[in-house]
Amino acid sequence: MRYARTVTDLVGNTPLVQLNRVTDGVRATVLAKVEYFNPGGSSKDRIAANIIDAAEREGLLRPGGTIVEPTSGNTGVGLALVAQQRGYRCVFVVPDKVAEDKRAVMRAYGAEVVVTPTNVEPEDPQSYYNVSDRLVSEIPGAFKPNQYANPNGPRSHYESTGPEIWRDTDGRVTHFVAGVGTGGTITGTGRFLREASGGSVRIVGIDPVGSIYTGGPVHGYDVEGVGEDFWPPAYDPGVVDELHRVSDAESFAMTRRLAREEGLLVGGSSGMAVVGALRAARDLPEDAVVVVLLPDHGRGYLSKVFDDDWMTARGYAIDDPSSAASTPSA
Ligand code: PMP
Repeated sequence: MRYARTVTDLVGNTPLVQLNRVTDGVRATVLAKVEYFNPGGSSKDRIAANIIDAAEREGLLRPGGTIVEPTSGNTGVGLALVAQQRGYRCVFVVPDKVAEDKRAVMRAYGAEVVVTPTNVEPEDPQSYYNVSDRLVSEIPGAFKPNQYANPNGPRSHYESTGPEIWRDTDGRVTHFVAGVGTGGTITGTGRFLREASGGSVRIVGIDPVGSIYTGGPVHGYDVEGVGEDFWPPAYDPGVVDELHRVSDAESFAMTRRLAREEGLLVGGSSGMAVVGALRAARDLPEDAVVVVLLPDHGRGYLSKVFDDDWMTARGYAIDDPSSAASTPSA
C-alpha cells in the first residue's frame, strides 16, 4: 500500500510547471514551482516541522505548550498542522490587512487568531510583533518560533526547496526568482543552488514597492506576505544577486492572469514574483532556465485580488492590462 503516515509527511516535493501564456516575448524557459501543492497550501509548511523539532530539542517547547507567532497566515497554517499532531495550542497574531479568508483558515485548523492594526510602527505596542511578545510573556509555556530570525526557516529551504529544484531541472536551472518576506525562502534556496552550481545560478529577489529591501521609502502596500519594514535576520542579502521592485497593481494584474491564462490560482505574492521573473528573463537566451517560486494558493484571496469590487475600490484595474510585465524596471 502506498500512503503517507501523516499529512505532514506530504510537505515538499512540489512540482515545476512551465509558464506558457504570460511569457510573451521571453525566449528562456520559465518554470513555476507551485508551492500550493503542500498540504497546508503554502511554502511555509516546509519550515514548521523543522522549527518545532528544534524547539523541542532545545527545551523551548514542552508537552502542553503554546505556540505564539506573528504571521500573515501561511506560517500559522504550517505550524498548526504540526501542532495538532503533537498536542500544542496555537495563538497567531495577524495584521488586519490579512484577508478574513486566511484568518478563518487558521481558525479552522484549530488555532486562536488575534488581529492587530497594520499601519503602525514596528515599535508601537499594538504592532503585531509587540502584541505577540506580550502574549509570549503572559502565557505560561509559550514559545515564539520567530520566523523572522529563526535559522531553521532558511535551513528548511536549503534542505528541501533548493535540492528539489536542482534535481527536477537536472541541474540546468540558471536563475532562481522569489519574493522576499522573512527572506527565508530566497536565503536558503539561493544558498543551496549557488553551492550546487558552483556559483553560476543567479538569485533574483522580488520586493513590493513600499518595502525596505529595495531601499525606497517604506510605506503600506496591499500584497501580502512579502516585503518588510525592518531587516529580518532570516534574510541574507549576500545571497541575492539582483533585486526588482514590483507595484501592487502589476502584482495583482499578473495574479489574475495566472488564474485565467495558466490555470494557476495563486496569491498576490506569486503574481509579484512572476512579474519580476519575466523582467529578469526578458533578455535571456533560449537555453536559460528560470525557476520562479509561487508561495501560496489563491483561495485565501477570493475576497481581495479576485474580487472586482475590492480591486476597483482600491484603485486597481480589473481589465487585466495585456502585459503587466512590460512595465519598465523600478
Ligand atoms: N508569499 C507569501 C504569501 C508568504 O506568506 C510569504 C511568507 N511570509 C512569502 C511570500 C515570502 O517567503 P519568505 O518569508 O520565506 O521570504
